Amino acid sequence: MEHFNPADKIQDLQYFGEFGGVNPSISDSSTYTFLSAKKMFDTFEGNAEGCYLYSRHSSPMNLYLGEALAAMEGTESANVAASGMGAITPVLLQLCASGDEIVSSRTIYGGTYAFMKNMLPKWNIKTHFVDITKLEAVEQAINKNTKVLYCETVSNPLLEVADIASLAAIAKKHNIKLVVDNTFSPLSVAPAKLGADVVIHSLTKFINGSSDTVGGVVCASQEFINDLKNVNNGASMLLGPTMDSLRSSSILKNLRTLHIRMKQHSCNAMYLAQKFENDGLKVVYPGLASHPSHVLYAGMINKEYGFGGMMTLDVGTLEKANELMELLQNRNLGYLAVSLGFYKTLFSAPGTSTSSEIPLEEQKEMGLSDGLIRFSIGLDNDIERTYSLMKACMIELCILEPQVVS
Ligand code: PLP
Repeated sequence: MEHFNPADKIQDLQYFGEFGGVNPSISDSSTYTFLSAKKMFDTFEGNAEGCYLYSRHSSPMNLYLGEALAAMEGTESANVAASGMGAITPVLLQLCASGDEIVSSRTIYGGTYAFMKNMLPKWNIKTHFVDITKLEAVEQAINKNTKVLYCETVSNPLLEVADIASLAAIAKKHNIKLVVDNTFSPLSVAPAKLGADVVIHSLTKFINGSSDTVGGVVCASQEFINDLKNVNNGASMLLGPTMDSLRSSSILKNLRTLHIRMKQHSCNAMYLAQKFENDGLKVVYPGLASHPSHVLYAGMINKEYGFGGMMTLDVGTLEKANELMELLQNRNLGYLAVSLGFYKTLFSAPGTSTSSEIPLEEQKEMGLSDGLIRFSIGLDNDIERTYSLMKACMIELCILEPQVVS
């Protein structure tokens, strides 16, 4: 099999601006003129390649960004959206009709969980939440009404790993679509290459990397992207989560450095995970041999980009977690903030923030404990120094014992 390096695929694309600029020109227009009424009609019908009609449907900069993200994921096409949720929700509504069902991983981003659990029943679409690491349980939950199998490559916040190739085989066997949210693992994993039908990202996170905008993308076959954008029944076209051209321009520029950033995020996270585990802390990181899916994940990733920048630490209680996060922020070692993929380390307690949509009972069942802190490790230049400073905070709060020097 040809070695697929997503960063090379992005780099191979070449765009110039209107006046020979090294960046493509931003088309600052919501609507486009036509020299003839017939051309306008043909464009509306989808029969005039290269013509633009109205920016909710397509704009040049959104197409450039979509093309780069499709190249990164190895899919035929992509459609950018104004947020990650603006990518996820139309995909599910496009694939499911009243009476259809979804089988989803139970450990997913809280917003996606809430949409499936609380909103989709209004369309008479039911979701079965399963432990995605138990392939038998996944298959048992599929029935004749199931249309979608949904998971995150590395789940938010528990960092469970989905065996995408095996899930793709199950989806194929039952003639349903495998939809994968790859937000935590861009470049490291290419789910479409492992058999996923639709790959989604919240661009808000690592891909944009500067925490200055929200954004999303759906990467899939040309046919599915055309369906999403269909003027009569396309969920993206009709729900309207359109990204603004100025934003897609800035995200495309940030995408150019994603490979460098991912290597640094992964390297720093691996260093801290190993150190904290050696110190006796409860660390979850897919790069550690102690992670239940370490071997599986090592076989799935493009090793160059590592095991990613996300790590969790369980410090026992919510009080301790809050104390630690506040102290780390006071020492300027990161920010007490949701989201991820920033240059600075970000941390939050998912049970009371990004996963608070999940009822407490269910949080417990899936292993989401009170004292869990989710870290998005930053791009720190000297991670050894960061580690020493973080460790000092933990000693101060009695999370770690001071080391006895003999
Ligand atoms: N998917 C994952 C894994 C996320 O972590 C998030 C946001 O936190 C989303 C999707 C939603 O993305 P957005 O906030 O850009 O709508």
